[in-house]
Amino acid sequence: MLKVFNTLGRKLEEFEPLNKGKISFYHCGPTVYWTQHIGNMRGMLMGDLIRRSLSYLGYEVRHVRNYTDFGHLTGDNIGDADTGEDRMEKAAKRENLTPQIIAEKYIAEFDRDTKLLNILEPTVKARATDYIDGMIEMVKLLIDRGFAYVTSKAVYFDISRFKNYTDLSGRDLEKDKAGAGIGDITDPDKKNPADFVLWFFRTGVHKNALQYWSSPFTSPEVKNGEGFPGWHIECSTMALQNLGETLDIHMGGVEHISIHHTNEIAQSEAVTGKKYVKHWLHNEHLLVNGKKMAKSEGTSYTLKQIIEKGYSPLDMRYLFLQAHYRSKQNFTWEALDGARIAYQKLKTQLGSWLENFKEGKVEVEYRKKYIEALEDDFNIPRALGVLWEVVKADLLESAKLALIFDFDKVFGLGLKEEAENISEFLKKNRKEIERLVDEREKYRGNKGWEEADQIRKVLGKKYHVEIEDQKDGTEWRVIA
Ligand SMILES: [Zn+2]
Repeated sequence: MLKVFNTLGRKLEEFEPLNKGKISFYHCGPTVYWTQHIGNMRGMLMGDLIRRSLSYLGYEVRHVRNYTDFGHLTGDNIGDADTGEDRMEKAAKRENLTPQIIAEKYIAEFDRDTKLLNILEPTVKARATDYIDGMIEMVKLLIDRGFAYVTSKAVYFDISRFKNYTDLSGRDLEKDKAGAGIGDITDPDKKNPADFVLWFFRTGVHKNALQYWSSPFTSPEVKNGEGFPGWHIECSTMALQNLGETLDIHMGGVEHISIHHTNEIAQSEAVTGKKYVKHWLHNEHLLVNGKKMAKSEGTSYTLKQIIEKGYSPLDMRYLFLQAHYRSKQNFTWEALDGARIAYQKLKTQLGSWLENFKEGKVEVEYRKKYIEALEDDFNIPRALGVLWEVVKADLLESAKLALIFDFDKVFGLGLKEEAENISEFLKKNRKEIERLVDEREKYRGNKGWEEADQIRKVLGKKYHVEIEDQKDGTEWRVIA
């Protein structure tokens, strides 16, 4: 039985899909104004692991992920949506390009990085600017039903009309009051500091907004109701249009709990009158050297930077498998080295077994253990532990390979292909590699350090083999 930790209620729950065998899954995607750092990519990868786990467990998953290509203001994540600049427009100014070209550019980068990390394509990639009509429709319904009101600056959601507003966050709105609503366009007609914007009129600080649309809403300050939707209504619209009124799973980073997802619930449920999401999943953040990632400290690494340092994207993927999505993970270069070595050892081991492969049957016992790990709130680190148990188990090599290739449907490490390549390579080069390793051993035995080092270099350069000296001999692995 699959158990999932639901942020709504903050407890482990038995997972029951709305429709037997099928799952609707919405994942908040990137705002495409900059190259996503590895912390963002970890969030995407955690979503991928959950989706792959669900497929492995036999569900048919409809996975929707969005691109936010307008309207995500710099104040949004801290609950101060009135203030701040549109991230897309900030980037447009920075790079002297139009917001549309900025979007194209960073969508392409994001798609490249997700592909490199072997993150599966979502069923639907929803781009916010394609859903403007639906957003306007939703805002209209919210006004008609008395959940929203119009001022000269914006259309707001009236949170006093929505009873369960703080259910997801557990926030104390009284306490949070002080920090809300400050900034350039403080609107005297806003009723409650926590009311959030559904539609910004193109006035005040947004007077020169580059991306705007006409609307049926009226402000004395603009013609044709010109403006743009708020960030939260984007996700609600894309989710409801692509997945229906109630979703099985909605996922995002923990920073979205108190504002973004709270607001999504309010708008969506006010419109549909139905429960918006059954299971809310939130992933924790990636730290660097034990601290929050920061551009100013140069720790906001991108995947490109990781690759330029000589790591493969799948080394990074392996690293991400080692921590549960609800745990913080600490990135250090040592940790990445450790992941790279473990991944290489694994591939080399599988490759050598494949050299004499015979089809074997899957051992039920380990598969059961593996499934139990997935069913325990998608415990990927534990599942990875089961894989290593299999590596060391007293089983036929063919049986181990069958199990591990099967497990890799979720891990996504490309193990079958990697092992096949290594096995082909070893068929041709094993003899020579082993001869060199032995020769080097002999030199080392006679303190011929220089010659030994020379051979180590040849092994690295010519054969892509890395060696590690241990008490009882030398271990070698192929760097593929
Ligand atoms: Zn979202």
